[in-house]
Amino acid sequence: MTWGTLMSRAHGMCEFCGGMDDCLPVEVEGAGEMLVCAVCDSDPPVEHWRCLEAASRSDVPEVQVAVWRKLGAIETPWAAEIRSRMTLLPEAQALV
Ligand SMILES: [Zn+2]
Repeated sequence: MTWGTLMSRAHGMCEFCGGMDDCLPVEVEGAGEMLVCAVCDSDPPVEHWRCLEAASRSDVPEVQVAVWRKLGAIETPWAAEIRSRMTLLPEAQALV
């Protein structure tokens, strides 16, 4: 995926939290690429990941896969709850 395609899909915003600072393409293993900001890429405090509630409603398979994996790595009840409410696209389901 080209930088321009990724930027326009993500509207220039982090596809995890919507932040606009220093967004860079990050590989989602096996799925493709997504745009991630410096904060999300820097191992932020667990509360930061509350942003995944909004990201979990993305209709981009790569983002769904990344959100699903991230939520699975966060050991809090709210992360499990957001994950349980996600409806994965078939393309994403095949990858998680
Ligand atoms: Zn972010």
